[in-house]
Amino acid sequence: MATEAIVPEPTLVVLDPARGSVVQELPIDRAGDVAAAVARAREAQRGWAELSVKERGKRIRKARRAMVQARAEIFDLLERETGKARFDVVGELMGVSLDIGYLVSRAPKWLRRERVSTRPLFGKRGYVTYKPRGVVGIISPWNAPLNLALGDTVPALLAGNAVVIKPSELTPLATRRAVAAMNTVLPADLLQVLIGHGETGAALVDEVDMICVTGSPETGRRVMERASRRLTPVLLELGGKDPMIVLADADLDRAAKAAAWGGCMMTGQVCMSVERVYVEAPVAEAFTEKLVGEMRKVRTGENGADAEIDYGTFTSPRQIEIVERHLADATAKGAKVLCGGERVASSGGVSFAPTVLANVDHSMSLLTEETFGPIVPVMPVADAEEALRFANGSRYGLNASVWTRDVSRGIALAGRIESGNVCVNDCLVSAGVQGLPFGGIKQSGVGTRHGGAEGMRQFCVRQAMLVEPRTRRKSEPQWFPYTPKRAKQIDMLLGLMFGWR
Ligand code: NAD
Repeated sequence: MATEAIVPEPTLVVLDPARGSVVQELPIDRAGDVAAAVARAREAQRGWAELSVKERGKRIRKARRAMVQARAEIFDLLERETGKARFDVVGELMGVSLDIGYLVSRAPKWLRRERVSTRPLFGKRGYVTYKPRGVVGIISPWNAPLNLALGDTVPALLAGNAVVIKPSELTPLATRRAVAAMNTVLPADLLQVLIGHGETGAALVDEVDMICVTGSPETGRRVMERASRRLTPVLLELGGKDPMIVLADADLDRAAKAAAWGGCMMTGQVCMSVERVYVEAPVAEAFTEKLVGEMRKVRTGENGADAEIDYGTFTSPRQIEIVERHLADATAKGAKVLCGGERVASSGGVSFAPTVLANVDHSMSLLTEETFGPIVPVMPVADAEEALRFANGSRYGLNASVWTRDVSRGIALAGRIESGNVCVNDCLVSAGVQGLPFGGIKQSGVGTRHGGAEGMRQFCVRQAMLVEPRTRRKSEPQWFPYTPKRAKQIDMLLGLMFGWR
């Protein structure tokens, strides 16, 4: 019996989720294209690494100017491929541009060779040198396509690497356009973009010297397994189910406003969205009432430069399915919809009304799995300890927030939350602060981005160097010949130094 060969799709069709139209169709990069791209990047990286960090910084600043000058086109593509509100679209490029300024000015200091103590080997010199890894692969998601692709690209380039990006198959266009603008200034092939689905990403894992993935825990696991074949280092920035804990003494107006923004921003399609709220019972009713009031003011619909909306459509139909599945599961188990709970048709796509749910519990997927929609479930708790137990009873640990007028108590409680990031009386924004490391624990990720020198140095191999400057020294005490007398001396020394206290 003849078997039919599976013919792979020749092109990637990028859709506008708000209008249901095709934005662009692009050829897909296969494994052979990926290998060739990385080989070209490897070649370009040699010359780039020879430049001083200061010179690399200068060129990256010029690349930023080129990108900002092309912003009208970048914004248009980003808006069309994501369905997002204009405010979030411009915010992505602003974030990247601010990061470039911060990193370029600090990189020469962070990447400088460091002198370290050579104790216990006195008289020698010790150095740590930060050298580029080679070619860094970046696999990015669709929810903040530009920011999440270029966020790791900039420190990797500054550290002297070449970079190959595989953006999400849903949203590759703005990143591709921004990189084209940067490449009017950067050396040829140093920074490239590959087009394709997960297979293209998997092929990239096989070729590069470090792989950074922002995506779901499932993808993170697959990439880590694949990277382990060549022992390639990974940075995994994955999903979350971020809790918000509202204590009885919190400013409820501020907390409710924050929950509405943190839950609905970008249609709730943010890894650090407020995905569940635990509020102390005495203020649960008042908080929920205020939250519903705030959510009723939030506007959604079709996006565009002049659209008066706070958030737009879902970026893909798959996301609508997940949100509706979680909602149906919750209501079937007794959850009560206090506002929203349904689709709002915009001209070609789907937005979802800002939604608040009460009567929720942890048997519902809405409280345990990443929803990625504009839905805020609110659960009253007996006290802070119960809130903490619920917050920590999750396989995720990305971000979290604690709300209280007692800042010291807030800090103490925040410190007990099992998450890579946490805010007190604010939410989400820790991810936008370059000086703070951003990353998840448990199944929310491996490693961190940002975070000062450490964040940049992860794109380097650290070479340790020991130098003996006394060139006339004929021998060392630890060299041959070993004698029983010298072993006894060390034995005695050990007793004298450490054997009596
Ligand atoms: P996804 O995991 O489906 O895809 C992410 C990227 O991985 C895409 O480019 C995709 O093509 C690629 N990919 C898929 N399978 C692959 C494989 N086997 N090998 C290599 N690459 C592969 O995620 P998504 O739906 O694009 O993004 C949403 C997820 O990303 C959510 O879970 C969200 O929380 C998470 N996210 C995390 C952060 C963070 O910083 N922690 C930021 C944004 C989004």
